[in-house]
Amino acid sequence: MMKYISTRGNAPELTFEDVLLTGLATDGGLYVPKDVPKYSLEEIESWRDLPYTELAHKVVYPFVEGCVESDALKGMLEDIYNNSNFGHKAIAPLQQLDHNEYVLELFHGPTLAFKDFALQLLGRLLDYVLERRNEKVVIMGATSGDTGSAAIEGTKACRNVDIFILHPHGKVSEVQRRQMTTVTGDNIYNIAIEGNFDEAQDMVKASFGDQTFLRGERKLVAVNSINWARIMAQIVYYFYSSLNLGGPLRPMAYSVPTGNFGDIFAGYMARKMGLPIEQLIIATNSNDVLHRLMSKNLYEVRPLQHTITPSMDIAVSSNFERLLFDLYDRDGKALADLMTTMNKRTETVSLDEEKLAKAREIFDSLGVDEDATVETMQQVFKETGYLLDPHTAIGVKAARECRRNPNIPMITLGTAHPVKFEDAVLRAGYKMPELPHHLTDLMAREERMSVLPSDIEAVHQFIAENTFGK
Ligand SMILES: *Cc1c(COP(=O)(O)O)cnc(C)c1O
Repeated sequence: MMKYISTRGNAPELTFEDVLLTGLATDGGLYVPKDVPKYSLEEIESWRDLPYTELAHKVVYPFVEGCVESDALKGMLEDIYNNSNFGHKAIAPLQQLDHNEYVLELFHGPTLAFKDFALQLLGRLLDYVLERRNEKVVIMGATSGDTGSAAIEGTKACRNVDIFILHPHGKVSEVQRRQMTTVTGDNIYNIAIEGNFDEAQDMVKASFGDQTFLRGERKLVAVNSINWARIMAQIVYYFYSSLNLGGPLRPMAYSVPTGNFGDIFAGYMARKMGLPIEQLIIATNSNDVLHRLMSKNLYEVRPLQHTITPSMDIAVSSNFERLLFDLYDRDGKALADLMTTMNKRTETVSLDEEKLAKAREIFDSLGVDEDATVETMQQVFKETGYLLDPHTAIGVKAARECRRNPNIPMITLGTAHPVKFEDAVLRAGYKMPELPHHLTDLMAREERMSVLPSDIEAVHQFIAENTFGK
């Protein structure tokens, strides 16, 4: 059975089941697998003809073995990755832009962003585990866009999960709001906070810190990418895309639009498991804390900027700690010290040159501002007639700037559908694309949400009223 350890070396080892139900480790670290399964090229090659669901079973099962029955996992994956849930039969199809240049379309799921790949699975895993333990939990999250709708879609059928998603009232796009508020299910609560995203986020953080409002009857579960189960589900599409382009017999390069470093860390995991990946590109928007660290070896947290790529707007990138853990030879003590310094945010921090050099063997990085994002959308449209969403455009820009070897296929992760990001599409001078066929009635569906003041007591009271005595 796979064991999980904390990056800071001072928390109990956990099973998958406990990791699923835990946010941060008790020492403040993040959980990672203790031993990563490693596959030979022959073994990976033997998976070439598997459809997405079967490949997902190969990749995911070793991480959950002992906690989830093989057949139960198979059932969940079949329930998720099929043509009635995903709007494309290939689940994660490749779109070619140029010779040896591709976009991996990860936006055919129910909410049109890659987060569906993981949150659909997370919801089913939670319900499976909670059913067996005869427990119920509360999911609480704040969203400025993609995470909230994907979490709601992923948990709407859960019997043992009530989900409360806070969004800033009037400050998310209509498509994104409707993707949250029109989902039916008596365990779903959309809270529109009369305040901004940061206030909503702060209330969620404070609630995780002090859960007494749940009277000890329930626990809060995190659905952001500090939850290992999310990373795990995202490893699959690196294998899938590589196998589709002649891997593992030839290496691939990936460019990943990055915020919290979750999606790209999944690529790093695929590489650790034996998939030949030559290069991983960290593509950021002007919230470029990681690009500055990678290029100048200076870690300096700056205030958050709101951009036309809201799903990558972060000040700190939490999953980067999982990579640092490996760079520091999995020395939890060393990492705990490093993270303490990095989290002080009073001065700039540098990594050991030797550790950074190890990262640079695999990773390159680029920060892309709004003008360059829009220009890339226009450039690719002129070249191919294909409209990129602005997050994916950042990935394509970085792929083109940072590519090391033109003979190696370069795959940019297409993280969202452009229809979700009206501001960027209009700014680039294009008409809004049509909603994909499974969402054509989105604008006509009935909405349900509760507007609350930006006051944590009011939010806690609302959660308590709707959680207990149902
Ligand atoms: C969440 C998200 C990202 C960033 O992913 P991370 O795992 O946080 O790096 C990029 N693009 C889109 C569209 C997203 O929704």
